[in-house]
Amino acid sequence: MSDLKTVDCDVLVIGGGITGCFIALSLARKGLKVCLADKGPLFREASGRSGGGVRQQFRNPAELPLAMESVALWQGLGEQLGEDIEYFQGGSLRLHRTRQLHEEDTARVERERGLGLDVRLLSPQQVRARLPVLSEQIELYGGTYCARDGTANPLLLGRALTHALTRAGVALHDHEEIRRLDVSGKRLTGARGSSCHFRCPAAVNAAGPWARKLLASLGLDFPVAFRKSQILVTEPVSPVIREFVSFDKGYLRQAKDGNLHLGVRGIPIGALETSQTLSSFEDVARDFPEAFPFLADIQIIRGFAGITTWTPDGIPILDKVPGVVGLWVASGFSGHGFCLGPVVGKLFCEWITAGRPSLDLSAFAWSRFGSVEKTV
Ligand SMILES: Cc1cc2nc3c(=O)[nH]c(=O)nc-3n(C[C@H](O)[C@H](O)[C@H](O)COP(=O)(O)OP(=O)(O)OC[C@H]3O[C@@H](n4cnc5c(N)ncnc54)[C@H](O)[C@@H]3O)c2cc1C
Repeated sequence: MSDLKTVDCDVLVIGGGITGCFIALSLARKGLKVCLADKGPLFREASGRSGGGVRQQFRNPAELPLAMESVALWQGLGEQLGEDIEYFQGGSLRLHRTRQLHEEDTARVERERGLGLDVRLLSPQQVRARLPVLSEQIELYGGTYCARDGTANPLLLGRALTHALTRAGVALHDHEEIRRLDVSGKRLTGARGSSCHFRCPAAVNAAGPWARKLLASLGLDFPVAFRKSQILVTEPVSPVIREFVSFDKGYLRQAKDGNLHLGVRGIPIGALETSQTLSSFEDVARDFPEAFPFLADIQIIRGFAGITTWTPDGIPILDKVPGVVGLWVASGFSGHGFCLGPVVGKLFCEWITAGRPSLDLSAFAWSRFGSVEKTV
């Protein structure tokens, strides 16, 4: 006989990262009885380890309308949650250190402007005027700038969302790993966790990289690969950088307290683990002071790593799970899902409660990668 505690709800959200938290919050605010299960504490994986960039420019065209609507939601978020999340629209600046990148981005800026985004191409002089800490020695062909992009503090957001979820009546089940999905006659009936048996007609798999394992338990092959993304944090310094700056070797931003967050390129991984690698220090030491010489005199005080989940085309899979009525999946954000959290929450709530999302999500269908293969 099972010693799992039985819990009934309208929707079970699996995964308490930014995606699952916003989906659960939107559903609870519509009056649904929602359980949110996470295998650990909330916001402890990629969402709490994110660079905090809330960026619209340099997106796949299919994703741009989502990012633009998400930024509209981010603008009132701190007030709505009733807590400071350090959301700040300081702009995003993308540097061009090759002529090729400059040419590619010239076309990209035109395309994004055509979709309604206020993004501009900058000359090398305009970039240097915005970013005086950039080395004068490096070759520069220009950059692109989006004034309404920005950053937020992932840790503060995680805390504010936890409070908001509780206020909205979401039953938070942290340290509750969902191990099995119950399906009867092609319809979801519930899920078994480490201590609870959830009985529910609907669930969303928002388990980040682990979404794949849960779907494999249904015999489905979810087409994602994994990378370890890492950030080093410096001691606090007086304000030097306003924008979220990205260049060919990584990205950097300055947090409200003055610490600089230096992000290096992700490395492909098989096992889902988050130990910091020596290579992150080597990458920063080699690449960052060359472009930003002032960094050579500043201490690194800590670092962390998180797992990013990549689809073959770099945009997420936001879909109903084929062949299982009542089960949805939202994963594969390919290193830029922090910005999208609020809009994905809104759209999934519409989909589950009203039958369809208000933005067209067909570009995010799982079937774009061919037939959804059974692995067993
Ligand atoms: C270093 C780094 C920097 C980044 N920078 C940016 C950035 O600047 N801008 C941006 O937009 N994005 C950025 N990203 C990407 C962004 O953080 C992710 O796309 C986003 O956080 C994904 O959120 P998620 O909720 O889908 O997944 P996650 O945050 O991974 O959450 C999934 C949750 O599911 C839980 N879970 C897993 N399996 C189970 C199970 N079986 N049962 C119950 N719970 C389970 C996990 O414990 C976890 O809490 C960055 C990521 C990293 C790692």
